[in-house]
Amino acid sequence: MLADAWPLAVLAILLGWPIPVFLARAVWPRRHPRAAIALWQAVGIAGGLSLIGAPLAIGVAPLDGQLRNGLAELARDAVHLRVPEALGLGQETALALAAVLTLRLVGVTLLSALRIERDLRRQRNAVDLAAEHADRQLRVLEHAAPAAYCLPGTRTRIVITEGTIAALAPDELEAVLAHERAHARWRHELVVQPFVAWESALPLPPAHRATAAVTALVEMLADDHAVRAVGRPALARALVAIGGTAGPVPHQRAAGAVAGAASTPTLDRVRRLVRPGVPTLPERLVGPAVWLAAVLLVAGPTWFVLR
Ligand SMILES: [Zn+2]
Repeated sequence: MLADAWPLAVLAILLGWPIPVFLARAVWPRRHPRAAIALWQAVGIAGGLSLIGAPLAIGVAPLDGQLRNGLAELARDAVHLRVPEALGLGQETALALAAVLTLRLVGVTLLSALRIERDLRRQRNAVDLAAEHADRQLRVLEHAAPAAYCLPGTRTRIVITEGTIAALAPDELEAVLAHERAHARWRHELVVQPFVAWESALPLPPAHRATAAVTALVEMLADDHAVRAVGRPALARALVAIGGTAGPVPHQRAAGAVAGAASTPTLDRVRRLVRPGVPTLPERLVGPAVWLAAVLLVAGPTWFVLR
């Protein structure tokens, strides 16, 4: 069973640092944002499974059979409040490490989701009090600075300022609203939240890059919805006029990654809209290849843990 630990440990290291750094630098995700998000999610899930699975495999190595059988034996003894006699100090330390990692990853994810939900509720209540109710979801704030953002959830609010309405032509405003409605409809905050949690649990450069990359990718997905509704020119002009809008998650670092007219993600989004280009055959094949890679990436460590 110790043989199971090495592939999981190598995968955990690769998925914890070089692969996220490499993926964050890639250019192809701009053409395939949905597939790229699936790959980022696969990196996160497979990374977490490998990170916990490697010390588990080391911990149950002296027990019989595969990792799954060893875990079952460990669980049977745990029910009777005893540790299997075959385990030494090294294995007990590895199991304790696996337990701490599991608690940290699960705990931080839950706490992060609760904190984001609480922030959303506060902001929703604040805009309901302070802003004009244009319709059931749309709130217009009396402020000269252009801004538009979405407070997603079961009681979605789309917030724009009077400055936004003044700065945009009707089709540009419709493009901005279509972009924000796409965030709300497809619950993009649920895509970004696990990466914010990952960043909180393991505050290392790859986690920061993952959150920034996924935040930028959901902006591109929302742009694609807006393009289908109103066309590229209107959305590109709106982005140039009001700059990047805040992201779908009211988290300062996550939102900051896409906020600001001069930020690189906004310039990338404008470039993507005005110079879409015709994809070559290899570029078109990247999407299906990435989906396949995402499935294999999750299936690999899952098979190691469950076989
Ligand atoms: Zn957006």
